[in-house]
Amino acid sequence: MNSLLIGELSPEQPSFEPTKNKELTDEFRELRATVEQMGLMKANHVFFLLYLLHILLLDVAAWLTLWVFGTSFVPFVLCAVLLSTVQAQAGWLQHDFGHLSVFSTSRWNHMLHHFVIGHLKGAPASWWNHMHFQHHAKPNCFRKDPDINMHPFFFALGKILSVE
Ligand SMILES: [Zn+2]
Repeated sequence: MNSLLIGELSPEQPSFEPTKNKELTDEFRELRATVEQMGLMKANHVFFLLYLLHILLLDVAAWLTLWVFGTSFVPFVLCAVLLSTVQAQAGWLQHDFGHLSVFSTSRWNHMLHHFVIGHLKGAPASWWNHMHFQHHAKPNCFRKDPDINMHPFFFALGKILSVE
């Protein structure tokens, strides 16, 4: 990650490095321990199963809409709404699998990530990983975060909000 290092913080700046700010580090560790004790870091597998099932159900409903009612305007619009919902929901679901945050073993997270992004969204998991690692290294930093690396007009609807 050396290419992402742009400098060191001055000693008086807040820092998470234990050698630079022990009080802040201790508070953070206490907060993390509390969060883990409350069980907030444990994923509910039933929730994610139902999440995946509702995506598959909406996908089947969209295709059945066209199969049964044909491709006239109303079935077409209904199908478009259903498939748009599927794509949005699958996008967030693959994000959780891509962050390896659902299962305790990375193998199951990778398998489900490949299934959701590869088969439901039609994109390679390796591409998402490559882009998303950069996004989290420099979140929402114009020209460094690929998620917003587009013309300022499309990113922020104007130049005012798209400065570094
Ligand atoms: Zn993320």
